[in-house]
Amino acid sequence: MRVAIQGTIGSFSEAAARRRWPDLVPVPCREVQDVVAAVRAGEAEAGILPIENSLIGSVTSTYDLLHEAFGDGRLRLTHEVLLPVHHTLMGLPGAELAGIRRVLSHPVALGQCRIWLGRHLPEAELVSAWDTAGSAEIVAREGNPVLAAIAARPAAEAHGLVPLADRIEDDPTNQTRFLTFTRSDVPLPQNPDGPFKTSLIVCVDHKPGMLALTLQAFGARGVNITALQSRPERSKPWTYRFYVDVAGAASDPRVAEALEEIEALAVQLVVLGSYEAWPDGALRFAAPAPPPAHHVKKPDVPLVDRRRNPEGTVVVVGHLAFGGDAPVLIGGPCSVESEAMILETAELVAQAGGDMLRGGAYKPRTSPYDFQGLGVKGLRYLAQARERTGLPVVTEVLSWEEVPVVSHFADMLQIGARNMQNFSLLRAASRSGKPILLKRGAGATVEEWLMAAEYVLAEGNPNVVLCERGIRTFERATRHTLDLNAVALLRERTHLPVVVDPSHAAGVSSLVIPLGLAALAAGACGLLVEVHPNPAAALSDGFQSLTPPMFAELARRVHPEREQRKRRVRA
Ligand code: PEP
Ligand code: MN
Repeated sequence: MRVAIQGTIGSFSEAAARRRWPDLVPVPCREVQDVVAAVRAGEAEAGILPIENSLIGSVTSTYDLLHEAFGDGRLRLTHEVLLPVHHTLMGLPGAELAGIRRVLSHPVALGQCRIWLGRHLPEAELVSAWDTAGSAEIVAREGNPVLAAIAARPAAEAHGLVPLADRIEDDPTNQTRFLTFTRSDVPLPQNPDGPFKTSLIVCVDHKPGMLALTLQAFGARGVNITALQSRPERSKPWTYRFYVDVAGAASDPRVAEALEEIEALAVQLVVLGSYEAWPDGALRFAAPAPPPAHHVKKPDVPLVDRRRNPEGTVVVVGHLAFGGDAPVLIGGPCSVESEAMILETAELVAQAGGDMLRGGAYKPRTSPYDFQGLGVKGLRYLAQARERTGLPVVTEVLSWEEVPVVSHFADMLQIGARNMQNFSLLRAASRSGKPILLKRGAGATVEEWLMAAEYVLAEGNPNVVLCERGIRTFERATRHTLDLNAVALLRERTHLPVVVDPSHAAGVSSLVIPLGLAALAAGACGLLVEVHPNPAAALSDGFQSLTPPMFAELARRVHPEREQRKRRVRA
């Protein structure tokens, strides 16, 4: 097979192409444009282009060619090749290292061997040439034993030279990435199971957030962006086009969805093509996202169904187990109000015998004028409180955009009642890999609630704890009506553990302890309650927040065995 390469025989491009096709016949071309032209003209079946060096970065001449070369669909990308770049110093047969006075190579190659040259040939003149293998050709042609070239080792044999020193590059990790391509009508086999990458060009409007929104189309679907380069738009100074490489083929459902969305958002989207990724390359870190649930066969038995795990699922958070032997008591304020306040509350929760700390940093408030939470600061304070007390932290995430930052700090993500059917949030929270506390929507049926949990499970995260927090009924005497029917029923319907939040159900602190105890009797494996050092001064939900002594009383009733143990120790 004929393969068009940039540079003369023995170039790095040829060495890279031989990693794919060991028996190729090289078709040397002067410039990258000539490589493309040779394949278009049928002078070669395939071509190879250097695209990026691990030390130097983009090969801009190739980037600037991609649109023109691949935008019209007549050529298609086929493979990625990674080539470790090892440099060899070569001279005429009989030449000696000590006698070398002038070294020729491509300036990048000279730069990559600077330390070795300084040490071994400090007096030699360094001369830039058009390409590495081309400099070997010049040395051979000149026939002067004081000349040497730096090039890939195969260039020595190709041009009748001998190696004087091998592996003279300063950085042994140096690699170059190449892309191979062919004409669209030439069948070049690809391994259908091999990892694929897709390269594209995106041009976006100068509007706040446009680039981020565009790239989010991938992030939100668990598609890994493996490279992002920007190049100036020549005809419009200070505007840019973005070159994006992602893991996966354009035909993968997740990538296809993302591309559809980007096409709608961007000024221009050019899909340059999908190609087989180099197997031991940078894709190692990319965990493939499972395909979206609507692309796989619906399971006969839903993932949440009790029949899938009759023993019941145990969800582990730090040292705690929801659905294990002991009930889990989660206490904390409705909102994180300040550093001092959350540290004080965490201490009192830990000392009273609570197991886990709650507290909202992002608050779903009915009125936009109410306190909305401290955001990232609140998350930092929660993490500090965990450091201080050892209590794992659960906190609410309001939108899919905030999943990364909330899951960075929290041990468990709470999805609040108002968001129970926010399906993009459910998917994003699932992909965070953190255990999820899924509250029931105030107007949601048990079936709808279970299907919301199914979203999380279908997205690949099995760790869901359901939280009953009261539903809206005709009864207005309490904030909501605690549905203990549902708690008992869920034990039959699902293997997922269920906890109860009596605070939001009752809306008044005096009912929290009896409702909590009733919930445990009905089969809940834990409680989520609000407690505040000074409920009257709380910025949200003070009325329903337990005082510290009330919380201590609840903790004693939830963990009576600890009380007995304490008493035994005292006696
Ligand atoms: C909360 O836990 O503070 C909260 C807002 O809960 P819910 O989503 O159940 O109203
Ligand atoms: Mn609250």
